[in-house]
Amino acid sequence: MLKVGVLALQGAVAEHLKCIEKAGAIPVTVKKTEQLADLDGIILPGGESTTIGRLMNLYGFIGGLKAFHEEGKPIFGTCAGMILLAKEIEGERPHLGLMDINVERNAFGRQIDSFEAELMIPGVAVNFPAVFIRAPYVKETYGEARILAKYNQKTVAVEQGTLLATAFHPELTDDPRIHAYFIEMVKKAKQRRLLVK
Ligand code: GLN
Repeated sequence: MLKVGVLALQGAVAEHLKCIEKAGAIPVTVKKTEQLADLDGIILPGGESTTIGRLMNLYGFIGGLKAFHEEGKPIFGTCAGMILLAKEIEGERPHLGLMDINVERNAFGRQIDSFEAELMIPGVAVNFPAVFIRAPYVKETYGEARILAKYNQKTVAVEQGTLLATAFHPELTDDPRIHAYFIEMVKKAKQRRLLVK
């Protein structure tokens, strides 16, 4: 069975663990880099990207996750997790710098702190109930990044090889389709890794 971790330094961890289990994989709470070797994929949850980034630095996850990516293991970032994956963050230095996107934090304004919207995500889900909480948006994609979904002309979901990122929180709804899509990515990546070995 596939093992999929959730980086548990700060943020919305428990809900992702449940979604992974529902999608048919073994969920793992990840607090140490040593755990990465045993995983087939990992989710970087929402929370506060500055805080998570600082803790990632402190506990060796910047190098650990870059190596994880190099090995061909999929990473899915939701909300703050998307910010952590980005090569560019408006006005700030990047964290992992893996994804060919430029993101802007808290991009939907202070008045509308959080909201829900139905998204059309071709190939993934029709009418996905997306929950946005002080969400970032993708200002620009380049290189290998592919836009998966937009909301009000703003890009809110992207994919790039073994990387997936959403500005919203798919773990906060009962809709399992995005997690199922990620688990499928993890499965295919594992098959590829086994072929190469
Ligand atoms: N606003 C947060 C940040 O910039 C992200 C919010 C979230 O993950 N829900 O890090």
